[in-house]
Amino acid sequence: MMKPCLLDFTKEELGLVFSPAFRAKQIFKWLYQGYVDDAEAMSNLPKAMRDTLADTYDFVPLEVAHEETSKDGSVKTLFRLRDGHTIESVLLPMKEEVVDEEGRRVSHPKFTICISSQVGCKIGCTFCLTAKGGFVRNLSAGEIVGQVLALKKRHGISPERRVNIVYMGMGEPLDNLDAVAKAVKIFADLDGLSISPKRQTISTSGLSHQIKKLGEMNLGILLAISLHAVDDALRQELMPINKAYNIASIIEAVKVFPIDERKRIMFEYLVIRGRNDDLGSAKKLVTLLHGIKSKVNLIYFNPHEGSPYTRPHTAEMEAFRDYLNAHGIVCTIRQSKGLDISAACGQLKERSTHVTA
Ligand code: SAH
Ligand code: SF4
Repeated sequence: MMKPCLLDFTKEELGLVFSPAFRAKQIFKWLYQGYVDDAEAMSNLPKAMRDTLADTYDFVPLEVAHEETSKDGSVKTLFRLRDGHTIESVLLPMKEEVVDEEGRRVSHPKFTICISSQVGCKIGCTFCLTAKGGFVRNLSAGEIVGQVLALKKRHGISPERRVNIVYMGMGEPLDNLDAVAKAVKIFADLDGLSISPKRQTISTSGLSHQIKKLGEMNLGILLAISLHAVDDALRQELMPINKAYNIASIIEAVKVFPIDERKRIMFEYLVIRGRNDDLGSAKKLVTLLHGIKSKVNLIYFNPHEGSPYTRPHTAEMEAFRDYLNAHGIVCTIRQSKGLDISAACGQLKERSTHVTA
């Protein structure tokens, strides 16, 4: 039997196990701010408590199995979970460190970490490599949190540096809502990683009923919708889940989703050459998003072996973006980080499976 993992607990839950409750706060600080994964090092805890911690709990839910660094500085990590399954996370440096003439640091580097929520995925999008391997299991909250903690430690990102999180790795976060919602809270704990929900973006393929449920939880997170198409026929081809949750149902769910006044709902639009890159689609998108505080992120389709789709031309991407901007919709083109390593999510896993098989 596997031991329970400490990262699976909220501070309140730990407080029920270790009393008095301030012990939970101390443990949290050691784990998330002290980067400690050994009970003996938790020097302000009584010896008996350190022994219980060491005997009863695991501190680390995953280990690095493989890593690739891209020319642009993004690092893709394949983690092995305790049961041997693997998942991917990506560390994306957003801003370089700036040092003035006297060598003083004037701005810190900023990082976004892209994390997985499941081993595999049930949704089955036809353009996505993660879908190919099918669904294996949900991640626990600790396995979600553990990805960020491990990457911060490994890359020497000091504990007080807050990072942004996007749930855009492997899996459908809203298909594992309980663990994801718990992870959002553990991340946000001020005695822990202290990552405010406003710095966490959950990306979904559009499970409308789950979007409503997430909205009712009022976690304060940001929401990204993987829209990818403006009509149901094409969306159904790309994302079979659209049969159950069509575009209209998603728009309806988004309209009642609570967001911070200064924020917007993000719509991701995967651009595939000759399929959805025309200005007619851009026009429909403008109509569809009418009345929603939105921003659109255009994503270059990342080709992989055996995929029937191709990467769009830059000229079409830019024309699409310019059309949206000219019609009142904030739109940016996502810079494809890590294209030279293993491209879209699922590809590192796929590759290393081939290598080790
Ligand atoms: N399941 C969630 C989150 C994980 S997928 C979702 O679908 O939103 C994260 C993003 O990666 C999605 O927007 C997805 O469309 C995109 N993606 C998947 N395969 C891709 C590929 N081959 N090229 C570019 N983006 C891809
Ligand atoms: Fe799952 Fe997202 Fe990939 Fe679709 S794009 S199969 S929802 S991980």
